[in-house]
Amino acid sequence: MGTEVENRADVLIVGAGVIGASAAFALAKAGHDVLVVDRNSGIGDGSTGSSAGIIRVHASDAQSSALAADALAVWNNWRGFLGADSTEEVARFVRCGSLILDAGTGFVDRAAAAMRAAEVSYEEWSLDEMSGHFPYFDFHRFGPPRPVDDDEFWSEPTELLPGALYTAQSGYVGDPTLAAVNLMHAAQREGARLRRSTPVVRIDLEGARVVGATLADGSRLRAEAVLVAAGPHTDSLVSAIGGTSDFRVRTRRIREELVHVPAPAGLDLALQGVHLVDGDLNINFRPELGNAFLGGSNGDLVEEQTVIEDPDEFDPLVTADVWERTTLRLARRIPALGIPRARTGVVGLYDAAEDWLPIYDRTCFDGLFVAMATSGTQFKTAPIVGELLRHVVETELDGRDHTAEPFLAPTSGRSYSTAQFSRLRDPRKGQLRG
Ligand SMILES: Cc1cc2nc3c(=O)[nH]c(=O)nc-3n(C[C@H](O)[C@H](O)[C@H](O)COP(=O)(O)OP(=O)(O)OC[C@H]3O[C@@H](n4cnc5c(N)ncnc54)[C@H](O)[C@@H]3O)c2cc1C
Repeated sequence: MGTEVENRADVLIVGAGVIGASAAFALAKAGHDVLVVDRNSGIGDGSTGSSAGIIRVHASDAQSSALAADALAVWNNWRGFLGADSTEEVARFVRCGSLILDAGTGFVDRAAAAMRAAEVSYEEWSLDEMSGHFPYFDFHRFGPPRPVDDDEFWSEPTELLPGALYTAQSGYVGDPTLAAVNLMHAAQREGARLRRSTPVVRIDLEGARVVGATLADGSRLRAEAVLVAAGPHTDSLVSAIGGTSDFRVRTRRIREELVHVPAPAGLDLALQGVHLVDGDLNINFRPELGNAFLGGSNGDLVEEQTVIEDPDEFDPLVTADVWERTTLRLARRIPALGIPRARTGVVGLYDAAEDWLPIYDRTCFDGLFVAMATSGTQFKTAPIVGELLRHVVETELDGRDHTAEPFLAPTSGRSYSTAQFSRLRDPRKGQLRG
């Protein structure tokens, strides 16, 4: 149960996923006494463990694009950022570029405008350039996206896509769990403490102020601030004490499947692979170790997403339906693709807001903070988000409004408004998905 000293901290972080671990690193570096608890025995075993780990710099708004670019600089210098010595195994960023097809939805124009505003470099490619670089893709227009049992899905395409955006600097981290482990170790080197297999069952309040949390064994942790970064479990922990009652943005848990598909014979994805953002067929794939593709759908354009009521109750196996439609769509884009017999992939939960932006904010209770609604996009930004959360916690504990003061990214000095991540934002100004 721990001694009184062990049970106290300046900041208690619930959740050792990539976000909680990153916040722990930033807060511990800034001199705070940080205690992280996770209900699992491993680090990064929640949504982080099922992440595709794609690090892309395009987004539908300038601030998200800038944040991704600032985080990318960190991923490119991961060992140095962590302060890890040469003996520590660290996650590796693999640069493969992102090809964002112009599906005629307006997304490409919006993403290009966002990157220009954020001073993020990108190229506009013609059809000839796309075909020259990636001859294994069929760049016909198959869309608008349709169900695979619709006859139209199989009709012969007559038009070609007009072009694409290409960001050479994008890529992926093949082992997102290791990245979370790295961040947690870095936080521990800065003095943060970690308790594994330690489920929080309740956030404790005194009046309108947080005072700590109660654990499953009945013991209590006491802290000046509590940051709930429990991924898909954040909503239930915070809602249970009325902590989401003033939220203007609704969140939900969505089951997401990723499938593995071996590359066709003769195609070496280590040399010719790219992260494909295909709004025309509603798919999104990256190269995976073992000369395979890893990917899934681009959102709910065709099939409804599966909303999960209890994040502890969802089918962790890849389903025949999703596997079939995702591989068939990829096979339209890559005619040489064989449809494998083995059905393999990864299933995880998105914690998603209705506008697809994360919530990094305080709550209506003093000292209680949330990092939630990270959906399918916040692994890539996690190293900078830890610092952003430090800004949120420090300004609020000092009695100031974090949305009224810019967050300055320590690596680039770039200035961000945290109002974009507020629980009180207007969700109608949402994101367009690629
Ligand atoms: C299928 C899938 C693919 C994705 N692909 C990408 C991608 O390509 N690129 C990208 O940028 N992002 C991607 N994401 C999103 C990204 O992975 C998440 O945004 C990120 O991992 C969220 O991290 P987290 O730390 O907030 O949550 P989690 O990783 O879920 O961590 C939360 C932690 O809290 C712990 N916890 C929960 N409840 C309690 C409790 N009561 N007490 C104590 N501990 C508790 C859990 O055990 C867990 O370790 C993807 C997500 C999914 C699901």
